[in-house]
Amino acid sequence: GGIEMLPSEDTVDLAKRHLVQPWPTAGEIGAETRSLIGSGDGIYITDGDGKRLIDGPAGMWCVNVGHRREELARVMYDQAMQLSYNTPWYTMNEPSAVLAERIAGHAPGDLSHVFFTTGGSSAVESALRFMQFYNNVRGRTEKKLILSRGGAYHGSTYLSASLNGRPRDRDWMDGADELIVKLSSPDPFRRLAGMSVAAFCDRLVAEFAETVKRIGADRIGAFVGEPVQASGGVIVPPEGYLRRIRKICRDNDILFIADEVVTAFGRLGHVFASGDVFGIDPDIITFAKGVTSGYFPLGGMIVSERLLEDLRRSNHPTAMYAHGLTYTSHPVGCAVALANLDLLENGVLAHAREVTPYFQAQLKTLEELPLVGEVRGVGLMACVECVADRDSKDPLELDRNVGQRIDAHCHDLGLLVRPLINMCVMSPPLTITREQIDDMVGILREGIS
Ligand code: PLP
Repeated sequence: GGIEMLPSEDTVDLAKRHLVQPWPTAGEIGAETRSLIGSGDGIYITDGDGKRLIDGPAGMWCVNVGHRREELARVMYDQAMQLSYNTPWYTMNEPSAVLAERIAGHAPGDLSHVFFTTGGSSAVESALRFMQFYNNVRGRTEKKLILSRGGAYHGSTYLSASLNGRPRDRDWMDGADELIVKLSSPDPFRRLAGMSVAAFCDRLVAEFAETVKRIGADRIGAFVGEPVQASGGVIVPPEGYLRRIRKICRDNDILFIADEVVTAFGRLGHVFASGDVFGIDPDIITFAKGVTSGYFPLGGMIVSERLLEDLRRSNHPTAMYAHGLTYTSHPVGCAVALANLDLLENGVLAHAREVTPYFQAQLKTLEELPLVGEVRGVGLMACVECVADRDSKDPLELDRNVGQRIDAHCHDLGLLVRPLINMCVMSPPLTITREQIDDMVGILREGIS
């Protein structure tokens, strides 16, 4: 089969004349050229020139079971022929109910109910609006500030984007700053020289506790954090950090919202990382991306039974969680997510866990290269951070676009890299084999060299 395609120059030209792409610079907005990707198969994608590349970032951390899975394509076709859409306002469908039950079965603690969205930003937005609703209904109208951290990425809608912690994401965009309190990124690589990781962890926890005390728990509604900061550069927090933050939140009745948009659905070898990898039970988990392996835009949040029970008990006559999207519980998205979960449960998760040590060990060998300050990661996500000098760890002296230059070299050699200024992020499809890991690391080594 296959779809007949335009000559690639024509596509690029059309885009340049009519398409606004995400994250454009002002100087190029609406007139940008980007690598054209024409097709995908397994861990590979093919560019507009017909060149086959390893999909190093699995799209955007999302194509977890790999490209061109016939079982997923077929389920979408079958579901669209059965029921392509129904309004979630006053009707419901079977795939969303079955998927909610399956997802809740994997979730830690008492997380029991799922609200489906169109992606990660809308999942985070839904969780934050839920927190506001929860506190309003309970008469705690002052308890709505949100704690977030440097290095965080939570989305591109107004409130979710307001949480973002990377300076570049906020420099030119406004946000709901009056609602947000920023804390430090839990990045051990950037701890003070001479400080142990354990002492760094103590410092982060103390900062959190002091902030709650200074502002007052009665004004703080939620903490939102990625268990592993993904777009911030695969920041794996110090051992015990998440459990200690979770405890402070519980003690102060602050909702702990784990943003698992990247870490869920297999990236760390489990459906959810919060419970199975980090031993925490958040009040809400947000997810997206890997839930459909990118085959359909879907996300959601899982909410704790305790919170729902608090609301039901209030038995408030008029209070309404006035929040819902046209595509909430989309039947095609939920159907493909079910088929995707089948693949994860029946082999892909086990494979991811099996190749993880090899993936991390092979990437770690890149620390031999003089440009590389650190290679870090967990599961099948890793970051190669380039520095000007290993002692100062200063990325600023470097060509600001070193990541892009590495990406360009690697592209020629057959690997798509996700460049983040001075960092290269690797998060391939979870189906990657040892031989393919060797190819990926070999190309990255040559590209960086
Ligand atoms: N949260 C995290 C941790 C993410 O990495 C992302 C996207 O990369 C989002 C939220 C936003 O998701 P989306 O782009 O699907 O709206």
